[in-house]
Amino acid sequence: MLDPAAWLDVPQQVSTGALPGWDRVEEIVREAHSRFSAERGGRVADYIPVLAEADPDLFGLAVIEVGGGLHDAGDARHPFSIQSISKMFVYALAIREHGHERVRDIVGVNNTGLAFNSVVALELNDGHPMNPMVNAGAIATTALMPGSTTAEQWERVREGLSAFAGRSLSLDGVVYASEAATNERNRALGWLLRSYGRLSGDPDEVVDVYTRQCALSVTAHDLAVMGATLADGGVNPVTGERVVSAEVCRDTLAVVASTGLYERSGDWLFEIGLPAKSGVAGGIVAVAPGKGAVAGFSPPLDDAGNSVRSQMAIGYLSRALGLNLFASAPAQEHSGAVPRSPE
Ligand code: GLN
Repeated sequence: MLDPAAWLDVPQQVSTGALPGWDRVEEIVREAHSRFSAERGGRVADYIPVLAEADPDLFGLAVIEVGGGLHDAGDARHPFSIQSISKMFVYALAIREHGHERVRDIVGVNNTGLAFNSVVALELNDGHPMNPMVNAGAIATTALMPGSTTAEQWERVREGLSAFAGRSLSLDGVVYASEAATNERNRALGWLLRSYGRLSGDPDEVVDVYTRQCALSVTAHDLAVMGATLADGGVNPVTGERVVSAEVCRDTLAVVASTGLYERSGDWLFEIGLPAKSGVAGGIVAVAPGKGAVAGFSPPLDDAGNSVRSQMAIGYLSRALGLNLFASAPAQEHSGAVPRSPE
C-alpha cells in the first residue's frame, strides 16, 4: 500500500503556475534520488523469466520540462523494457488514427478494479476490455494500429513510440523471447476477446505485436521525454516534432489518470495527483500537463506490479515541484492579489 509518510514532510507546492527555475528543479531531483536510494521494499518481477535477473539496486530518476530543460539522477540512462508503459503511447497513436469516439467505444475508459492481467474482468464485462491500460484493453488497442500485416503494425508502433522518445527505439530481443515463450495468459486474453467478437484478426499475431511493444528498450530519461510530449500538447519538447494533437494528449492523460496504476489508480491519484503509467520492469512515468514529466526506474515492485522506489520518488517530486493537479491555495495567500470586480 502507498504510504505518503515517505514524502509528507515536504511543503505542498501548488500545481498552478510554472515549474521552479532549472537550478531548483535539478536540486529537488537530486534530493529525491538520495532520499530513496536506501529504500529496499518490493520484489523484482519474475513471471517473465528474464526480468528476475534485474539488479534490484538500480535506481534512476529523470524530469523533462516542457521548455526542454533536462534533469537526470542515478541510473536515468540505464536501459530496461518499457512493458506496460507502452500501452499509454500506443493508445495515443490509436486515438490519433481512429478518433476519440471510436477508440472509446471499442476499448473503454473505466477501471476494472482488478489486476492488469485479469481474465475475470473480461468475463464480468461481456468481453469488453474496459480500458486500454490493462492487458486485454492494450491488446485490443494494438489491434487498431494501421498496417496490412503485423510486421507493418509493429513498425508503426516502434516508429510512433520513437517519435515520443525523440530517438529510434529498438527491441530488447532477450526480453521479447522470454515473454513470448511464457505469455499463455495474454494469448488466452486475445482469444477470449476474439470469442466475444471484440478482436478482428489472428489473436496470436496481435499478441505478438503487443509482446514486442512491451519489450522496447527505454531509459527513465526516454520515458520522461515521452511523457513530456504528452504534457506539451503533443509536441516533443526536445526535438520540436509534433507527435499527436493536444486533444489526443488530453484524452490519453484522462484515461491514464483513472487506470494507469491498475487497481491502485485511486490510491495513486489521491496521494500523488498525477496521471501516471507503470510497467513491470520497474518504470513509472507521471505527466504534469503544461509543465513536464517525471520518470522513475527501480525494479522491485509492490504486489500490484508497481515500482516501490519510483512511486515514492514521484510522490516526493509531485509535492516538491508543485505538480499535484488537485492542489490549490487561495490566490490572496500566495500572490497577495485581491480579486476585484470590474469598475
Ligand atoms: N508485458 C507485460 C504483460 O503483458 C506487461 C505488464 C506490465 O508491465 N504490467 O504481462
